[in-house]
This record gives sequence, structure tokens and C-alpha cells, in this order.
Amino acid sequence: MKVLLIEDEYVTSHSIALALRNEDIYVDIAAEGEEGIGFARHFDYDVVILDLNLPDMSGFEVLRTLRRANIDTPVIVLSGSVTIDSKVKALNHGADDYMTKPFSNEELVGRLRALVRRSKGYSDSRISFGPMTLDLVAKTVETEGQIGRAHV
Ligand code: CA
Repeated sequence: MKVLLIEDEYVTSHSIALALRNEDIYVDIAAEGEEGIGFARHFDYDVVILDLNLPDMSGFEVLRTLRRANIDTPVIVLSGSVTIDSKVKALNHGADDYMTKPFSNEELVGRLRALVRRSKGYSDSRISFGPMTLDLVAKTVETEGQIGRAHV
């Protein structure tokens, strides 16, 4: 999984990056909105973590710019603002999820994984090809009624 983290607060971004790297998740960090948009245009990410309060522009503007550029990578917004208004605004600008600071890195990782799974169409843990069905959660393979263990 490749993550783009757009966050200007050094302590927050490095704590998040550390937590993600511990999970073997690749992270690029952009400390400004413009820089983050540049990264998102040039590289492929599975998910973007976006702070709303950036030094050069608001996270809402970043979100709008990405969506207008047809970059439809899932975005999870981080914000110190707990108002319903700001959550609704983020979702209306094309965010896929929203987390209020302070949050636990474990929850962030969990939400990232869920978001990526959904965006890739794996919300169903079962994948079928031909006569075979692979269950990613149960780690089983079913072939015409017979179930075996899968090494996935
Ligand atoms: Ca900030």
C-alpha cells in the first residue's frame, strides 16, 4: 500500500509515518498543499491522508483540486475541527472518510485499510474466478463445493 500524507505539523506527520511504516506501508509526506497536489499528480497512491489546516491553502482546496484533476484516490481527512459542518463540507468536497484529532494511529491504520479495500472492490472478502472462490478473511479456497486452506 502506498500512502500520501499531506500534513504540515512535523510531530503529527512523523508519528503517523512511523505507525504506517511499522505496518510496512509506504508513505510520502508533503508539508504543504501545493506540494501534496504535485505528488498526487505524479505518483500513484492507494490513499491520501489530508490535513485540513495547511500553511498555503486549506485541505478543502487541495481536495477540490485533486477531484477536478480527476484524481480519484480515496482521501481521509484529518482535522482538529469536530463540527458537523466541517465534516459535511469535507465529504461534499470528495473526502471518503474523516478523522478528528487527536486520534489513535491504530484506528487510522484500520480505516486506511478499510478504505483501500473498498476502493479496490474487495469489500467482499470473497473473490471468484472461474469455478474457484477465494475467501481472503477465512483464507479458504472453494472449488465446486470443496473447501481447502489457501496460503494467502
Ligand atoms: Ca495543520
